[in-house]
Amino acid sequence: MTLEDVKSLIREIPDFPREGIGFKDITPVLKNKEAFLFSIDMLADAIKDRNVDLIAGPEARGFLFGAPLAYKVGVGFVPVRKPGKLPAETINYEYELEYGMDSLEIHKDAIETGQRVIIVDDLLATGGTIFAAAKLIEELGGIVDCILFLTELTFLNGRKKLEGYDVISLIKF
Ligand code: 5GP
Repeated sequence: MTLEDVKSLIREIPDFPREGIGFKDITPVLKNKEAFLFSIDMLADAIKDRNVDLIAGPEARGFLFGAPLAYKVGVGFVPVRKPGKLPAETINYEYELEYGMDSLEIHKDAIETGQRVIIVDDLLATGGTIFAAAKLIEELGGIVDCILFLTELTFLNGRKKLEGYDVISLIKF
């Protein structure tokens, strides 16, 4: 198994979720036990020299990679969710989408001041989602150690939105 093999499993679904968007579907990677295991191992390898306290991931695909990665690395996992999903007290960050607004939430007690956090997601597109997650972590006093993606859509320039953060991605389209 190589990252090229994982890349070849990611399929593009035309016109999802809207006309004109070619959605990169990572579910074939999840379904393939070698590819899923290898992806988590490679994500873990990318952060092996970093000293971190927590891994955070945004709903929903950030959970799919973030939680197994946290297990593998031996740290806790913090979910970042769409509004109204987290049961305890939360803080909220609103951000602009191409059309309209969206927001993300995190539990107020999810992170302690000074804790180092790695944010993980399946894919970097425009960077809006992860930027919001980073702001939530920082508002709680956390330090974003780096941001880690399985996949990056380089033509959308998400790295520009995340300027100032250490951004790592394993597979680039
Ligand atoms: P961004 O905020 O960077 O524009 O979008 C990234 C977020 O939307 C990620 O949480 C990611 O899961 C989801 N997303 C956007 N486009 C795609 C895509 O083509 N494939 C996948 N798997 N996720 C996407």
